[in-house]
Amino acid sequence: VPTIGVLALQGDVREHARALRSAGARAVPVRRPQELEQVDGLVIPGGESTTMWKLARAFDLLDPLRKRVEAGMPAYGSCAGMIMLADRIRDGVAGQETVGGIDMTVRRNAFGRQVDSFETDVTLPVLQPPGPFRAVFIRAPWVESVGDSVEILGRIEGGERTGRIVAVRQGRLVATAFHPELTGDFRVHRYFAELVRQAMEEG
Ligand code: GLN
Repeated sequence: VPTIGVLALQGDVREHARALRSAGARAVPVRRPQELEQVDGLVIPGGESTTMWKLARAFDLLDPLRKRVEAGMPAYGSCAGMIMLADRIRDGVAGQETVGGIDMTVRRNAFGRQVDSFETDVTLPVLQPPGPFRAVFIRAPWVESVGDSVEILGRIEGGERTGRIVAVRQGRLVATAFHPELTGDFRVHRYFAELVRQAMEEG
């Protein structure tokens, strides 16, 4: 059984832990470098990326996070977590840093303000069983551009935002602009837990 950490500096940690357990993983909170060393994979939850960045700095976690990601630890970031895994961000605050790892440019708060949060069905062909995924967007970012090694897993399919990229994968790193921990449909967590299992086998 893979042990998957949830970065517990800020954001909706509990919901991800519950989703990971439903996906057959052991879920543990990660707040310190020693805790980070013990996990097979990591979820970076939604919340507020500027706060998460400052806390990661304050808790001496930013460099350990970068090192583990560079060394091949699987990681999944949702919303603010997607921002944290982006190599480049737009509309960040002055000096805002990320962990990075995915060769993409992500725009913060791209869909508008809190009142503009919304839900829509997104098709993610990698999920099992297949079928539309109810995606909840809360002051969400979107992916403006990706490098050649990034696989696009899902886009917005209706309305004026049609075509916007909202789910990606590069190697062992996965990111979604939406919150899959809130709806009781844990296929995204199962997909990530499976990726962690495969990474453990590969070593
Ligand atoms: N707007 C937030 C940020 O910039 C993300 C919102 C979320 O994670 N739900 O980090």
